[in-house]
Amino acid sequence: MIIVMNNLATEEHIDNVLKKIKEKGLQGTVSKGTEKTVIGAVGDERLLDPELLESLPGVEQALRIVKPYKIVAREWHPKDSVIDIKGHLIGGDHIQIISGPCSVETPDQMEKSANAVKAAGVKLMRGGAFKPRTSPYSFQGSGFDGLDMFRQAADKAGLPIVTELLDVRHLDIFLEQKVDVIQIGTRSMQNFELLKEVGKINIPIILKRGMSATISEWLMAAEYIASGGNHNIIFCERGIRTFETYYRNVLDVTAIPVLKKETHLPVIIDPSHAGGKAWMVAALSRAGIAAGADGLLVEMHPSPCDAWCDADQAINPEELKKLMKELTAIAKILGRSISE
Ligand code: PEP
Ligand code: MN
Repeated sequence: MIIVMNNLATEEHIDNVLKKIKEKGLQGTVSKGTEKTVIGAVGDERLLDPELLESLPGVEQALRIVKPYKIVAREWHPKDSVIDIKGHLIGGDHIQIISGPCSVETPDQMEKSANAVKAAGVKLMRGGAFKPRTSPYSFQGSGFDGLDMFRQAADKAGLPIVTELLDVRHLDIFLEQKVDVIQIGTRSMQNFELLKEVGKINIPIILKRGMSATISEWLMAAEYIASGGNHNIIFCERGIRTFETYYRNVLDVTAIPVLKKETHLPVIIDPSHAGGKAWMVAALSRAGIAAGADGLLVEMHPSPCDAWCDADQAINPEELKKLMKELTAIAKILGRSISE
């Protein structure tokens, strides 16, 4: 860490900063310039709080040199991490598409959805049993019955399941139901207690970006999971809030190369919650894969106009098939493949 002292800093102020640095087990070195004094603190700077140092008299600024995240950082793990979801790989050269309805509704809807997912060549299925809705009067998901319906339909089709965990109290049932990938939704990205709990298991986690979260907050949220021991984390960009009201959210395509630079973990996009309309899904999906995303989380319903949740953004089975063909071609140009 670099601590810049202000023009009024006295010897006593400098000594005080050095004392704090030493207390935390780091080593301080003073460099006196003509105008300012700069102190370098060497050691594990994660133990030093820049805000605490900035509150000391005579300190102008305290700047970190090392990134505050460690396990998820590419700095410490240069090679791409590849995550294995029941034999289906994601990351590195492997792209995975995850598709299915926004919410689990009925056994018939789930069976049709699973068949459509399979017919399109998609290997992983999504579906929400617990739905985080803006209004308490909207459909909240079919809960544990829905989870059971999902498990049965997916098992019949031989598809691993991806579903959102909203409440830490549901985790045991998720484990009993052998959920293959746990999704942490945009509203839960900074539910730190939830992050700590999913950090203790070894099931892959899809960590969606908070709708107003910075890249650094998102990486730190992933670090919460990783620091508990679970390194199977997949980042999912699902659109952020901006001043624009034409579409539901803005798909932050820029986040894809930035995240790929900062972390070794896979990065996918959710074109459905980004655009919020079915007709935008293909264009956003193509953009995401072209920009280097490792996959998609895309909403598909066997009959979109009958969907109980997010009907306007669900693509239909035929559209999913067409999209898969387009994405396969884009992946090939990039020397990658939509994996088995
Ligand atoms: C979802 O994927 O069904 C969902 C609720 O997404 P988000 O958390 O991105 O809003
Ligand atoms: Mn949805």
